[in-house]
Amino acid sequence: MTEVGEAHVLVSPFPAQGHVPPMLKLAEILSHAGLHVTFVNTDNIHRRFLASSPALQRLAGLPRFRFRTIPDGLPEDHPRPFLQFLDLEESLRTRSREHYRELLVPTGKDPDGWPPVTCAVADGILRLASEVAAEMEIPVIFVRTSGACAVWAYLCIPDLIKGGEIPFPEEEEEKEEDGLDETIRGVPGMEGFLRRRDLPSFCRNAKSTSDRSLQFVTNANANVRRGRGLILNTFEALEGPVLSHIRSAIPISYALGPLHLLSRTFDDCGADAPLSSNSASLWQEDRSCLKWLDSQPQRSVVYISFGSVTMMSRDELMEFWHGLVDSGKRFLWVVRPDLAEGKIEEAIQEDLEKETKERGCLVGWAPQEEVLAHPAVACFLTHSGWNSTLESVAAGVPMICWPFFADQPVNSRFVGDVWRFGVDMKDKRGRSVVERMVREVMEGERAEELRRSAGEMAELARRSVGEGGSSYRDFENLVKDIKAMSREK
Ligand code: UDP
Repeated sequence: MTEVGEAHVLVSPFPAQGHVPPMLKLAEILSHAGLHVTFVNTDNIHRRFLASSPALQRLAGLPRFRFRTIPDGLPEDHPRPFLQFLDLEESLRTRSREHYRELLVPTGKDPDGWPPVTCAVADGILRLASEVAAEMEIPVIFVRTSGACAVWAYLCIPDLIKGGEIPFPEEEEEKEEDGLDETIRGVPGMEGFLRRRDLPSFCRNAKSTSDRSLQFVTNANANVRRGRGLILNTFEALEGPVLSHIRSAIPISYALGPLHLLSRTFDDCGADAPLSSNSASLWQEDRSCLKWLDSQPQRSVVYISFGSVTMMSRDELMEFWHGLVDSGKRFLWVVRPDLAEGKIEEAIQEDLEKETKERGCLVGWAPQEEVLAHPAVACFLTHSGWNSTLESVAAGVPMICWPFFADQPVNSRFVGDVWRFGVDMKDKRGRSVVERMVREVMEGERAEELRRSAGEMAELARRSVGEGGSSYRDFENLVKDIKAMSREK
């Protein structure tokens, strides 16, 4: 029989920016709680980590934490665009199985003298992990890196299909736009406000139930019901009602968010350590923008970032650019080299560049948590990725939401209509909309209201991760449950 202290978890994220850092933060606090933790990266992701992440140094000092890597099965020079995540998922499942199995249940002695793996903590969309763990009869606790609101919508997809709500009925072309405003009945708790356009993009894009992406997300989310529990990066004060619905389907669901704050509660560095030591980015951060922010007045800057995956046309990018310029506000914009086709420098005309030289700053990748926490930042124009949303919530920064895909349309509906600390720009385009929304969130009474609600939720987020807070308690329960599993052997 394995002793309680010998619990060993194998933590396996899906290899992408939106998944690896939050699961790494979870892995780190599990290790602080006394568990042995092996974190599985793909070779490709690990190489990028080694080149860019300040968090690695800190992790190297933890006695019960280690990295292991597996190949992802794709050729070395493959660009691995996240928009083709199904190909990456399939490659991992079919070509990396043996490597993963060897980490889960090694054939030889552990080189560090660690106990055998007693629990797999696996990303809900990483079928490789759930299938191999089931084969080897290792208990699995799943992690979904989306918010509870999106996870609940995903879990309801089979009912939406049964009820004839998806795929959307075919409309004549001119009615199609209005059709997207139809409210959805099949997601309990969201009947009054969730419209077709707010469903995860896979629902909107599917022309039939055999659509490959729709099938994948439906099956992956159905699969998480079969685990020993589900971990979500959210907190009761933010998503309590939705969490109750999820718990009606998956009774053991732990809400541990915001994980980037919870990790600071347990971190030896303490809550006041510089945020930079916390960063787990896959891109090299350009920290020069923090200096630039230091020279800007308080609450004067719009921070713009569309995350690691969003792509837009050159025209769309130019409309954002013009809208920002026309708003007259200061701005810090993360323009990834692959955000739009062509070089941004070419796209931005010289006269605009001159006009905004003093009040604009462009970087390829920013230290986002630090940027959002900076007193000069007044609002966040975001694609509504869940990590970005939570980071903005934690910093008390109101949002302008321009969702791109996956769970983002659900998140932005909640920000704009339920939590009301931002505005939803979904499906809207053009410089005048950008300008209007920036002004709405930066000027006058409405801006004050948004900032007040954002500030209140930030305070609740902070409390949830402190000793006795809801996320802190759920984390303690998770550790207790994992330790109990190690006694089952
Ligand atoms: N991020 C960052 N620097 C940037 C842009 C983004 O560190 O310049 C981080 C951000 O803090 C967040 C993650 O990248 O943790 C993006 O995750 P999210 O879920 O918001 O969106 P995704 O990239 O998965 O679409």
